[in-house]
Amino acid sequence: MVFLLILIKKKGDCNLKIYCCLEHTELALDVAVDEIELAPVFKEIDENERNHTCEYCENLALYTVEN
Ligand SMILES: [Zn+2]
Repeated sequence: MVFLLILIKKKGDCNLKIYCCLEHTELALDVAVDEIELAPVFKEIDENERNHTCEYCENLALYTVEN
Protein backbone atom coordinates (compact mmCIF):
# COMPACT_ATOMS: atom_id res chain seq x y z
CA MET A 1 0.00 0.00 0.00
CA VAL A 2 1.29 3.42 -0.88
CA PHE A 3 0.72 6.30 1.43
CA LEU A 4 0.60 9.66 -0.14
CA LEU A 5 1.39 12.76 1.81
CA ILE A 6 -0.04 15.82 0.23
CA LEU A 7 1.39 19.07 1.37
CA ILE A 8 -0.61 22.11 0.60
CA LYS A 9 1.68 25.03 0.47
CA LYS A 10 0.03 28.22 1.51
CA LYS A 11 0.79 31.16 -0.61
CA GLY A 12 2.43 34.05 1.19
CA ASP A 13 2.08 34.79 4.86
CA CYS A 14 -0.62 32.66 6.48
CA ASN A 15 -1.10 35.25 9.21
CA LEU A 16 -1.79 38.17 6.99
CA LYS A 17 -2.95 41.29 8.73
CA ILE A 18 -3.06 44.62 6.99
CA TYR A 19 -3.83 47.85 8.80
CA CYS A 20 -5.49 50.47 6.68
CA CYS A 21 -7.35 53.74 6.83
CA LEU A 22 -10.73 54.33 5.21
CA GLU A 23 -9.12 55.58 1.99
CA HIS A 24 -7.01 52.48 1.53
CA THR A 25 -9.52 49.75 2.35
CA GLU A 26 -9.97 48.84 -1.30
CA LEU A 27 -6.24 48.63 -1.87
CA ALA A 28 -5.77 46.49 1.25
CA LEU A 29 -8.57 44.15 0.17
CA ASP A 30 -7.02 43.80 -3.29
CA VAL A 31 -3.62 43.00 -1.81
CA ALA A 32 -5.14 40.49 0.62
CA VAL A 33 -7.09 38.70 -2.10
CA ASP A 34 -3.90 38.48 -4.19
CA GLU A 35 -1.94 37.08 -1.24
CA ILE A 36 -4.37 34.52 0.14
CA GLU A 37 -6.63 33.93 -2.87
CA LEU A 38 -9.63 33.83 -0.57
CA ALA A 39 -12.10 36.37 0.65
CA PRO A 40 -10.32 38.20 3.47
CA VAL A 41 -11.89 39.17 6.77
CA PHE A 42 -12.49 42.87 7.00
CA LYS A 43 -12.75 44.32 10.50
CA GLU A 44 -13.19 47.69 12.07
CA ILE A 45 -10.67 48.36 14.83
CA ASP A 46 -12.18 49.23 18.22
CA GLU A 47 -11.74 52.89 19.07
CA ASN A 48 -9.44 52.15 22.01
CA GLU A 49 -7.21 49.93 19.88
CA ARG A 50 -6.55 52.40 17.12
CA ASN A 51 -2.82 52.76 17.61
CA HIS A 52 -1.52 51.65 14.21
CA THR A 53 -0.96 53.71 11.12
CA CYS A 54 -2.20 52.74 7.69
CA GLU A 55 0.17 50.54 5.66
CA TYR A 56 -0.17 52.85 2.68
CA CYS A 57 -0.17 56.35 4.17
CA GLU A 58 0.32 58.23 7.44
CA ASN A 59 -3.30 58.14 8.57
CA LEU A 60 -4.52 56.27 11.61
CA ALA A 61 -5.66 52.79 10.67
CA LEU A 62 -9.38 52.26 11.26
CA TYR A 63 -9.68 48.79 9.75
CA THR A 64 -7.78 45.55 9.44
CA VAL A 65 -7.88 43.06 6.60
CA GLU A 66 -7.04 39.52 7.68
CA ASN A 67 -7.24 36.01 6.38
ZN1 LIG B 1 -4.16 54.97 4.11
